[in-house]
Amino acid sequence: MSKCFVIALIKHETNTFSPIATPLSAFGHGNGPSYGEAARAEFAGSNTPFAAFLDIARREGAVAVTPVAAESWPSNMATRASFEALLQPLEDAVRAGCDACFLDLHGAMVVEGCDDAEGEILKRLRRIRADLPIAVTFDYHTNLSPDIVANASVITGYKTYPHIDMYEAGLLAGDILARSLRGELRPVMAWGWLPLVSSVMRHAPEDGPSGEIIAYARAMEKSGRVLAATLLPGFAHADTPYTGVSSVVVADEGADAAARGAAQQVCERMLAIAWERRAEYVFHPEPLAQSLARARALGAGAHAGPVLLIDHCDNCGSGGSQDVMLVVEEILRQKLDDVAIAPIRDPRAVAQMIEAGIGSNIRLELGGKTDMPAIGLAGRPLELAGRVRNITDGEIVFTGPMYTGLRSHLGRTAVLDTGRAQIVVTERHHEPFDLVIFRHCGIEPTQKKFIMLKSRIHYRAGFKPIAAHIVECAGAGVTNADLSVYGYRKLRRPIYPLDAI
Ligand SMILES: [Zn+2]
Repeated sequence: MSKCFVIALIKHETNTFSPIATPLSAFGHGNGPSYGEAARAEFAGSNTPFAAFLDIARREGAVAVTPVAAESWPSNMATRASFEALLQPLEDAVRAGCDACFLDLHGAMVVEGCDDAEGEILKRLRRIRADLPIAVTFDYHTNLSPDIVANASVITGYKTYPHIDMYEAGLLAGDILARSLRGELRPVMAWGWLPLVSSVMRHAPEDGPSGEIIAYARAMEKSGRVLAATLLPGFAHADTPYTGVSSVVVADEGADAAARGAAQQVCERMLAIAWERRAEYVFHPEPLAQSLARARALGAGAHAGPVLLIDHCDNCGSGGSQDVMLVVEEILRQKLDDVAIAPIRDPRAVAQMIEAGIGSNIRLELGGKTDMPAIGLAGRPLELAGRVRNITDGEIVFTGPMYTGLRSHLGRTAVLDTGRAQIVVTERHHEPFDLVIFRHCGIEPTQKKFIMLKSRIHYRAGFKPIAAHIVECAGAGVTNADLSVYGYRKLRRPIYPLDAI
């Protein structure tokens, strides 16, 4: 009889300071969760762990049951009712009987009344069946907890930022679990956690300590000393007792009685590098006016590609409202020319532009519709005049290296052309990591002198290859790299760099 694998995706990066609510409809990037066959159809063949798990099931001749696939853009915590609606189909599938479970999770999900949603998911599944073999993949931005590790059989995570190895991470975790089901190996895990809140702006392997740690992890995997070694730099914008830098290592106890010790040693070495180099995980922002003056000078030379202006404090890919206008205002004040900007989320402005129609001149209050009480910031719109250059339905398909092949939805989208700047305004939240965000509405990004993006690191997937220069611009918002703007209450203290340790 063929085996049965339950494969599910429940993902949310929760920014507990975000002003954005997370109703059930926010999953499916605004289209609601997918269940059963629809879940399989949505993610099969994509660059995700879920797709890798499907491929492993096929390879093993197993029946794949896909009760739920649900991913939302980062925002504040989901309600308990939404969480239960996502978890119940998964629990039902496990209860119906299966040989193993393969989960594509985020690792920084907080829900009403629970700071550790992934730990809760795993505990609940193990409560149904105590010896259930479970493989889990996590995003790089995971805050690892004791409940997670205690209730999973195999854990891996992404080793890239931008995350372009999602499928690979799924293949690694899935393969280890599939081989253990065949009796070829016996996975054992070691893990550790550091009192260190690292800045997302210093997470890319080429920027901070992560590169050295990941290179070491890859070398240990390649040597065969361990099966999988994963660095999880954490997510500073989730205020939980688990927030911090961690690592988790899987080794084969079946082949080597000392495997547990090897896993522990590798894990400790990874964290030792992070701790020794912890000062490099702190981001030091430059004043905004200075950044844009520098960008202006960089753009004055011969066109070797656009200068990227990274509005990183209001990144919807980490819970930002995507409508803070501070950086746009400074771009216009300093009279930068030939600028493309994406995306500002403002459903009301989109409606006004659609009503006015393509080609018409319009004056409107753009952005600034969202207050951010958790960081004491009030929304402030920017009054602009311009021409409605384009209107689209916002349906896009990624062709760049991230989420390759997946379809996404910006909601109705309109382009406001102020003369100096072409601004892509959307109904929905969306981080710009693929050139399609401009191209689908008739803007060719490679031809622009400046491109402003509401992103922190993921823009690099699609935009770094076309950029002549990159200038990080410190605006405002709930993804501010200055951790002192957040009133942490649950974080375990003392913690670096907030406390002197
Ligand atoms: Zn991430």
